[in-house]
Amino acid sequence: MKAERWDGVYSFEDSPFLMEILTELRDERTGPIAFRKGLVKLGRYMAYELTKTMDVEKVRVKTPLEETEGLLVKDRRNIVIITVLRAAIPLMEGLIKVLEHARVGIVSASRGKAPKFEIEMNYVRIPEMRSEDTVIVADPMIATGSTLIKVLNEIKRYGKPKRLVVVGVLAAPEGIERIKKEHPEVEIFVAKVDRGLNDKGYILPGLGDAGDRAFGKPLELMKNEAPGGI
Ligand code: URA
Repeated sequence: MKAERWDGVYSFEDSPFLMEILTELRDERTGPIAFRKGLVKLGRYMAYELTKTMDVEKVRVKTPLEETEGLLVKDRRNIVIITVLRAAIPLMEGLIKVLEHARVGIVSASRGKAPKFEIEMNYVRIPEMRSEDTVIVADPMIATGSTLIKVLNEIKRYGKPKRLVVVGVLAAPEGIERIKKEHPEVEIFVAKVDRGLNDKGYILPGLGDAGDRAFGKPLELMKNEAPGGI
């Protein structure tokens, strides 16, 4: 785990395994099945890394032969995962494999068109949030940061958790800057911090649109055309 140039921001370029998963996700030839599987693997790995930063408790355990010392990751029992639709679904699936006690929330937040990129948030379901909880916001691509700022604002209306952590695949420095300015206490865990953004707000070199790559490009209705129309 590498500490980035911002407080509380970590990337994993020192992990060959994670970088291999990232390489497959980046590859334009990777189809949706392998892409989703890659996100699940990455989520599991990131959750595993996150447990290294959690509070633990020494316990006694009896093997069939004798009693010895054991360990309990206390914080693993107090987790809320907020899944930012769409692309975070497979990422959440991976996170929850390690953090199986998690309560899971869903937020729909989508970016409008350039140059404004206004965020539309139509569906918000946040489970009970306690002061001892670590709230993990799963969002694969931290691009302009606008979506996450809006989601973090919304989460804070529901309570004050012990930790607020964003887990993603890639981040652009611009997005990290903006999030850290608005929410300095938020920790960010990503596989890698990429170079920057293009004029459409995509991360470079990035991996394209994570939602489209995982689930296919959604159909856009033509103006004034009803579904199933002539
Ligand atoms: N969302 C994506 O899916 N990809 C990007 O590069 C930026 C935002």
